[in-house]
Amino acid sequence: MKRKVVVKPKSRAKHPIKFKLRNKFVYESDDCVGQCWPSTKNRIIEIDPRQSPKDYLDTLIHESLHELFPRKAERYILNAGTSIANLLWRLGYRKK
Ligand SMILES: [Zn+2]
Repeated sequence: MKRKVVVKPKSRAKHPIKFKLRNKFVYESDDCVGQCWPSTKNRIIEIDPRQSPKDYLDTLIHESLHELFPRKAERYILNAGTSIANLLWRLGYRKK
C-alpha cells in the first residue's frame, strides 16, 4: 500500500494576527455589511451574517485586508478581497 506523502511549507508566519469575529446585524445601523477599526488594533471584525455564504466570505476577507493593510485604498482592498474570495469559493471552501 502506498503511503500518502504530506509536505510542509518551509515558512509560515510565526505570530499571525488573531482576529476576533463578531456576527452582528450592522446593515441597517451602520449602512454596511462588514466593518473593522484598524487604528484601534483591537482586531475586531463585525460581519452581518444575513449575506449569502459567498458574500459573507468576500466581506470577511475584505475586512481582514483592511485590518492588515490599513493604508491601502478601498479599490485595492475591494479587488484583492473579491479575487481571493472567488478563488476560495471556486476551490470549494465553505463555512461549516
Ligand atoms: Zn472596504
